[in-house]
Amino acid sequence: MHLLVFILISVVLFGCQQDEQSMNEVKNKQASVDDKEEMEVNEQEQVDQPEEQQQEETDKEEETETTNQETNENNNETTNNGLTVVDNPDSIEVFVNKQRKLPDGWNPKNLVVPNVPFYFDENLPKKQMRQEAATALEQLFQAAEEEGLALVAASGYRSYERQKTIYEHNVNTNGQAHADQFSAKPGTSEHQTGLAMDVTTAEVAFALEQSFKQTNEGSWLAENAHQFGFIIRYPEGKSDITGYAYEPWHLRYVGTEIAQEIYERSITLEEYFGFGY
Ligand SMILES: [Zn+2]
Repeated sequence: MHLLVFILISVVLFGCQQDEQSMNEVKNKQASVDDKEEMEVNEQEQVDQPEEQQQEETDKEEETETTNQETNENNNETTNNGLTVVDNPDSIEVFVNKQRKLPDGWNPKNLVVPNVPFYFDENLPKKQMRQEAATALEQLFQAAEEEGLALVAASGYRSYERQKTIYEHNVNTNGQAHADQFSAKPGTSEHQTGLAMDVTTAEVAFALEQSFKQTNEGSWLAENAHQFGFIIRYPEGKSDITGYAYEPWHLRYVGTEIAQEIYERSITLEEYFGFGY
């Protein structure tokens, strides 16, 4: 009898774990849509010109959205379609998220390609970062290499125009609601700042997935990135604050002082700037 009860409980518990596991898998898939979308779109960029033309035709049918710009009296930030427009896009302290965007059409000026290994050979724009972030990334990769670790860069800078194309393509193909759930609005992706880089390693086949944290490279990164001025921008268990699920691969350069404080206090950039959404 006892054995029967034990078996019954085991079956129920095992079932729960399975459910939780598949839930996590679903979450993981959703978490990295923004990053993965860029990887896929870049591949398209080289081959399917006709689709871009097709999209232009669809664009003509769409009415141009009017933008309301208002100045916030408390600071120099403005609002645009309900989002706050940041007033310091050139600063390494720039703070963008789903509520805070870069000015329309703004692009960083001092972009360079960091001298680190990438998982692809083509000279794509996503290899770039702003000069100060690129130098720090090189130092971080060097330190990892000295520990016998092999980090690989996957995706850095993305232009305003590129993000606009991705977003509008998604709106035209899947509708506004779907696009807002799965694509970052132009101006709101951290990759547009030139201060972000997604990194990965061979052990996870250069994918951007949460299992990266379990690799030696991923766990070293979580404990050491701050020494080089980087933070894990979307930490585990903070998605209600950041608006993004855990992304152990997404590095954001903020400089060593801020990175050190964020690491020591185990907080997010939102909390650092006093935004607790
Ligand atoms: Zn990223």
